[in-house]
Amino acid sequence: MQGYIDSHAHLTSKDFDSDLPDVLKRAFDAGVAFIINPSVNLDDSKRAVDLAEKYPEVYACVGIHPHEAAGANDAALASIEELSRHPKVVGIGEIGLDFYYDFSPRIAQTRIFRAQLEIARRRNLPVVIHTRESLPETVAIVRESVAAAPEWRAQGVSPHSRYPSPKGVFHCFSGNIADAWQVIRLGFAISLPGIITFANAGQAATVAGGVSLEHFLLETDSPYLAPVPFRGTRNEPMHVVNVAERLAQLQHLSLEDIIRSTSYGVFRVFGIGRPASPQWTYKLRNSLYINLTIRCNADCVFCDRKGDAIIKGHNLRIEREPDAEEVFEEIGDPKRYEEIVFCGYGEPTIRLEVVKQVARWVKEHGGKTRLNTDGHGNVINKRNIVPELVGLIDAVSISLNSTDPKQYGEMMRIDGERFFSAMMEFARECVKSLPRVLMTVVDIDGVNMDKARQLVEKKIGAIFQIRPLF
Ligand SMILES: [Zn+2]
Repeated sequence: MQGYIDSHAHLTSKDFDSDLPDVLKRAFDAGVAFIINPSVNLDDSKRAVDLAEKYPEVYACVGIHPHEAAGANDAALASIEELSRHPKVVGIGEIGLDFYYDFSPRIAQTRIFRAQLEIARRRNLPVVIHTRESLPETVAIVRESVAAAPEWRAQGVSPHSRYPSPKGVFHCFSGNIADAWQVIRLGFAISLPGIITFANAGQAATVAGGVSLEHFLLETDSPYLAPVPFRGTRNEPMHVVNVAERLAQLQHLSLEDIIRSTSYGVFRVFGIGRPASPQWTYKLRNSLYINLTIRCNADCVFCDRKGDAIIKGHNLRIEREPDAEEVFEEIGDPKRYEEIVFCGYGEPTIRLEVVKQVARWVKEHGGKTRLNTDGHGNVINKRNIVPELVGLIDAVSISLNSTDPKQYGEMMRIDGERFFSAMMEFARECVKSLPRVLMTVVDIDGVNMDKARQLVEKKIGAIFQIRPLF
């Protein structure tokens, strides 16, 4: 079974000297599968490696924290690089800049940070980044480092992914949503500890709720920053459960979704665990999604169909398309779910007959259905398919993407004029015949949201929805 991964806990801290075996036992009993122990200096890095040798569930990152930069010399850096060859070392960290405490002169912090980014690049390892009151400076240095080494971690999970190859994590992330997107675009995950459970979480909670879960890792930052209701006491990895529960609330997802997605995130960044196997059906919140195909008539610039094809930890890269019987078997009792949704990275109406068979079966067994589509089903099937959906499909969600046929064509890499009018015609037909019609737009630069809303609500009479890009 999958468990929580605490991607950042200082088990080697003095605070755990007296009872570490108990702390670890409590964590594993609470469902923690793995713990990553970052280091703050050379001695600590050695302790982290020793600990990782002792416990199969513990992995180490080795590195020199910005607080300790002043005391670090070239010999220490060479030792860090040597330690990084240990098989249980999964990254370099924590490294970065801390201009809040300024325990080390900024010039020393910068030098040690850059040197360790170079170690990470040479060793092709991810980095765990600490930044406080220094986000622009940290991002600038990381950006330079990424630009200088396009091969760094470039193997990723799939060379075609629309996400940059995973280069590490900004831990205890302190920026806003725009800052978060900036580091995500550089190839970094973000993680937030118990801060998100605080009543005065402010921006941290906004970021945790507003950025796509794909880019989040769980962390406690033990022994610091214990979540509510343990705030102010020594933090320990078992409290990752409280962080995950809060993240589930903020993301409007289930705890199961959080565990699965953040575990996949750790696999992507650190290579721990394993990727999910491809699935015909997958659960999100209380809905069951049916992944009938990975084929699509379009090739959207923002779609990861040809890349990892992972949604919140679910692998949608199926090798064979299921028939209706196989789908019935996986659904079981459709009444267990809020909705049965035809979705995935492919266009479901390419398999219209199977959609209809499954939808009919779901309706006969008391379930609710939704079709997520690009709205090209009439072109694909060379007829108006909407009358065939009546009584079978309760809700349709159509990707509007843009209000401008030219932009629409560029985004989906298809004949914009032809498919935009086909999609609009399909939407009008749906509004006439089906109970609930939504139209969605991806939140990317250059799409006029007000105009899209006007078009959907006033001209088509459907429900308008924005989907986040990242
Ligand atoms: Zn830390």
